[in-house]
Amino acid sequence: MITASPLPAQQPRPWQRLWREAISDPRELLDLLGLGDYARDLLAEGDTGFAMRVPRGFAARMRYGDVADPLLLQVLPQAAELIEASGFGQDAVGDMAARVAGGVLHKYAGRVLLIATGSCAVNCRYCFRRHFPYAGETAAANRWREAIDCIRDDASIEEVILSGGDPLSLATAKLAELTDSLATVAHIKRLRIHTRLPVVLPERVDAELLAWLRGLRWPVAIVLHANHANEIDGAVADACARLRDAGATLLNQSVLLRGVNDSVDTLANLSSRLFSAGVLPYYLHQLDRVSGAAHFAVDDERARELIAQLRGRVSGYLVPRLVREIAGEAAKTPL
Ligand SMILES: *Cc1c(COP(=O)(O)O)cnc(C)c1O
Ligand code: SF4
Repeated sequence: MITASPLPAQQPRPWQRLWREAISDPRELLDLLGLGDYARDLLAEGDTGFAMRVPRGFAARMRYGDVADPLLLQVLPQAAELIEASGFGQDAVGDMAARVAGGVLHKYAGRVLLIATGSCAVNCRYCFRRHFPYAGETAAANRWREAIDCIRDDASIEEVILSGGDPLSLATAKLAELTDSLATVAHIKRLRIHTRLPVVLPERVDAELLAWLRGLRWPVAIVLHANHANEIDGAVADACARLRDAGATLLNQSVLLRGVNDSVDTLANLSSRLFSAGVLPYYLHQLDRVSGAAHFAVDDERARELIAQLRGRVSGYLVPRLVREIAGEAAKTPL
């Protein structure tokens, strides 16, 4: 008799395999793009302290032979990262001062942010995460207990924000463990998820994730993170459609990055492409001043000028709010 052998309990999902197959060698990425000859000029030879990580599907959206490709620039460890810049430090946004429990940041009224995990499918060179001490600081530790206790004890908290790292890098079962516990806290009214995964690895939006989303008891906002229209191909748009079909409201936040999206045409295209995928622009962030990212900085005057030009070009609801995060302020600060 032939019997089907039982699947191992923790069979990796297809997205987890794609995750592991991400490109981690900058030279491999440059070779794939026909840019191997530029390696010596571009690459950081010293240790940037932040490894390269690029899902192959994201790399496939980069233009062949274009050393200034806006997706490439977001992920390639460049020599410029090693230049010290004044005003750029380790904890640019005052995260450590806002910590109220392991992996829980409470900066703004009515909402707490859970650093669900330190992992991401992609390592974005401009990210403040590159210096965050994740080791002792993720909310998923102890089956989320510290985070849940802290939320339960504060009835002013109406919204729980899953952030990181990328919260969707956790297995869906782990997310369900959290939301099952949160469901026992009566004062929660909304759940928000900040994630780049539907953009950089749309395969993450699988049937299991959608079933979990559909089963949640709160309205859910998902804030995607795309900086350039070229990030949103057909597979990403399909993933967005599935998320919306599961009931989520989709928003996007971008970071204003020199050489990537600091032109009015690029920002207008991004808003248009987002809306076609069912996503509304939410924030355009001025760069957090983390060391290693100074080469992406756009000055405030230029940023304001870009937003003013964008306002003259596209529908009002396609203009993101230009903000900067200032440590100690009660909200993101409009510019
Ligand atoms: C950015 C942020 C939020 C969310 O702010 P919104 O303006 O509501 O998007 C919440 N908590 C922390 C700690 C944040 O950094
Ligand atoms: S937290 Fe977001 S911006 Fe930072 S590396 Fe991860 S995916 Fe990129």
